Amino acid sequence: MAPGSARGGCLLAAALFVAAAGNASAEPLALLADRVITANQDRALVNAAVVVDGDTITFVGSRDEVPSDTPRLDLGDATLMPGMIDAHAHPVTIGPDYQVAHLSNSSATKTLGAAVYLQDLLKAGWTGMRIAGDADVFYGPVDLKRAIDGGTILGPHLAVAAHWISITGGGGDVNFMSPEQRLIADGLVVDGVDEIRKAVREEIKYGSDWIKVLATGAYMSVGDSPKNVSFSPEEFDALMAEARRQGVPVMAHAHATAGIKQAVRGGARSVEHGTFLDDEAIDLLVEHGTWLIPTIYIGDYYYEEGTLREDERNNYYFEHEKPIWMDWLNKAYRKGVKIGVGLDFGQGDPPEAYAEEFRMLLDVGMSHMEAIQAGTRVNAEMLGWDDRGTLAVGKNADVIAVPGNPLQDIGALKQTVLVMIGGKIIKSPNTAEPPEGMLLR
Ligand SMILES: [Zn+2]
Repeated sequence: MAPGSARGGCLLAAALFVAAAGNASAEPLALLADRVITANQDRALVNAAVVVDGDTITFVGSRDEVPSDTPRLDLGDATLMPGMIDAHAHPVTIGPDYQVAHLSNSSATKTLGAAVYLQDLLKAGWTGMRIAGDADVFYGPVDLKRAIDGGTILGPHLAVAAHWISITGGGGDVNFMSPEQRLIADGLVVDGVDEIRKAVREEIKYGSDWIKVLATGAYMSVGDSPKNVSFSPEEFDALMAEARRQGVPVMAHAHATAGIKQAVRGGARSVEHGTFLDDEAIDLLVEHGTWLIPTIYIGDYYYEEGTLREDERNNYYFEHEKPIWMDWLNKAYRKGVKIGVGLDFGQGDPPEAYAEEFRMLLDVGMSHMEAIQAGTRVNAEMLGWDDRGTLAVGKNADVIAVPGNPLQDIGALKQTVLVMIGGKIIKSPNTAEPPEGMLLR
């Protein structure tokens, strides 16, 4: 249907009809809003426009420069910005008691649930995620990525580590059952240089883009300590060497100070959590250009919810360790550590809560604009996604709009009025029907 022949001359309806069919718009579409945050400039553009043609952004600038015959969608008092990216996601892991849920749900059940959950997150404005390993014996995260990339289902762009690699008795092991129970743990449990090397090779063989290693114990697993360093130097070096040899980046979960330093010195591309920082650890992060994904909000969330198996430990963390950590994070921020947005949430955690991590970064000391950049441009750079993370000519059309002005009220990021991924409209004021490829609840 050509827009010129649309019934009633409604150009917008014609453009959205094409988009709503699940394909990228067949002709340019101008998105107009009172503000545009490009994420590579320090100020928002006002009365601006983003023009999308197919799956690509072809114009960002003044709405006055958009040709008058371009179909348009005027969102009024809203802010256009790049789709948000979560650098630390666990969509296949069913939280909060995930170690038991792992034992009682099949890989297929967990993965099908994750497909629907990822679409809920997409509607909430999250157009990209890095899966930081999942509690799945098989390769559910990789299957999801293939289904999305292949066009079988719609979903956020994924970068995937299939499993978290752990030592026996570490954060990826099940440490609360009797010795005669020979369980398959939620993590990939390995010991010794040979097993570690084989684990890295298998992760890559079966489709992981990232290697996720638990360099220290964890908070949410049972029976290990976040203050313990997990791997011997020889084991950790073997993991890093094998990943480097194959050109696959490593994300290192690390709370203990010595574990953070081991990860950075070993060449991890990102450190996850980084709870017990010190001056030397911060200097190392800066020197090596390592990203830090602190995943702050999840501790607050479970402090409120009180549903963790290890609630007592999380409560202690929240009341005694978090205040100290926030001072260290502020120091890291001021010294120039690259800090990204990651949630650490699992399947079932509320999608609207994800944007709370931006508020945490304000508490770290970031401006509203810097926090938004952390969850868009900074994360895209870490992921090596050159075509995403900002609104600029030639970039992939992953565009969202939130109501009002998130530079004044960061809570605006909890709602979306428009979600577009790769030029496909997932949600807009004018589309009632979900596009093709969306699953129904
Ligand atoms: Zn995690």
